[in-house]
Amino acid sequence: MQPVILTRDQHGISRQQISDNALKVLYRLNKSGFEAYLVGGGVRDLLLGRQPKDFDIATSATPEQVKQLFSNSRLVGRRFRLAHILFGRDVIEVATFRGHHHEVNNNKNISSQSSEGMLLRDNVYGTIEEDAERRDFSVNALYYNIADFSVVGFANGLKDLEDRRLELIGDPETRYREDPVRMIRAVRFSAKLGLTISARTEAPIRDLAPLLGDIPAARLFEETLKLLLAGYGLETYRQLQQYGLFAPLFPEAAEVMGQGDNDYHKFLELALTNTDERIAQDLRVTPAFLYAALLWGPVETRTQQFMHEGGLNYYDAFLLAMDEVLGRQVKSVAIPRRFSSVVRDIWMLQDRLTKRSGKRPHRLLEHPKFRAGYDFLLLRAELDPRLKELADWWTDFQLANPVDRQQLSRTAQARHNQFGGEEPTKAPRKRPRRRPRKKKEA
Ligand code: ATP
Ligand code: MG
Repeated sequence: MQPVILTRDQHGISRQQISDNALKVLYRLNKSGFEAYLVGGGVRDLLLGRQPKDFDIATSATPEQVKQLFSNSRLVGRRFRLAHILFGRDVIEVATFRGHHHEVNNNKNISSQSSEGMLLRDNVYGTIEEDAERRDFSVNALYYNIADFSVVGFANGLKDLEDRRLELIGDPETRYREDPVRMIRAVRFSAKLGLTISARTEAPIRDLAPLLGDIPAARLFEETLKLLLAGYGLETYRQLQQYGLFAPLFPEAAEVMGQGDNDYHKFLELALTNTDERIAQDLRVTPAFLYAALLWGPVETRTQQFMHEGGLNYYDAFLLAMDEVLGRQVKSVAIPRRFSSVVRDIWMLQDRLTKRSGKRPHRLLEHPKFRAGYDFLLLRAELDPRLKELADWWTDFQLANPVDRQQLSRTAQARHNQFGGEEPTKAPRKRPRRRPRKKKEA
């Protein structure tokens, strides 16, 4: 773990590229006699000439010492304690150098008891070298030293970054078994930063991919957001497929996509392309829309099965399919309810958007998720020409003035009659189920 040091004049990072808040924290730690470094993604991205997402700090100060230095801080993390320094909505994460688990008995820096008197086995503090060894990839074991503005690289990280190579620190199989999430982090960094995963780093992934099944579903939800909603979703998805990592995350979707060459596969690629473009334009993206696209194939497939094998009508089959698909998905990757309810709305709207007669389309415009449902329909129409007329109609309807809307609604009514109540769309529709009118009691 011999470090390579680039002095201030040997690298391009200037303090102007680092957030004021991160600099404040670094300076105060340094003035108080502690070592303080910018670490990981922040340094890596700056060296690549990119704007880092956030700035993380590593220091020789213990969390308690950090807490004493910053009144605007709080300690977080159960396994490994970190300090969060709060500047309004900006949070700077400060971590004490981590040591090795197995040195738990002879590490002089061990803080053996928390304030609650609980033994914190994982809180083993160490040196910067030990901290570097515990990081995942060599390009993440880079430190920017606030004391002299040098960059310190461990594990050949600086050279790997220069060669655009993603290299796991230590023995890959051991490191993946220690934390299987590192496999999807490999894909994420490769896709996002255009790095090539080295042969030894990629070799065990296919075999070990099923280990993702052991990771708590809630953690995987956070990870999938970083995978698919960070602006490089399409490339990330392709690599997930390539390394056999897609199936353990999204088993139902993987199943209907077969060999990754059918319409559902194309549909997801289209949705991801769309999402990436929106992010590039600084537009809002919601996990719900992407999850709706990801699981649309399973929902349609299950609906058909419930209809043809279970003898259910379309509407009941569809409701059951939604429940089942979401219920199975959350076992591997949790979807918080605030998103899954929107996923359902988007799906339900696909049926409601086919009903264009009378007052219904006017009412539908008021639906809080109308826009997402309509966008979803547009996306489906790109792959299914039968939906094009419907999608165009809704585009016109939204743009039209009230008089024209009446006209459009009448045209749709005529169309509705012409097709005997069946719109020529892909989704099988159920006929409206009319309850027999109750006889008015005399
Ligand atoms: P991003 O640009 O996505 O923020 P990052 O490299 O900063 O990339 P984070 O998830 O913010 O990634 O993690 C910060 C640092 O913590 C990483 O650079 C890495 O050194 C270390 N790290 C994060 N997750 C792991 C892990 N599972 N195993 C080992 N080290 C990790
Ligand atoms: Mg980060």
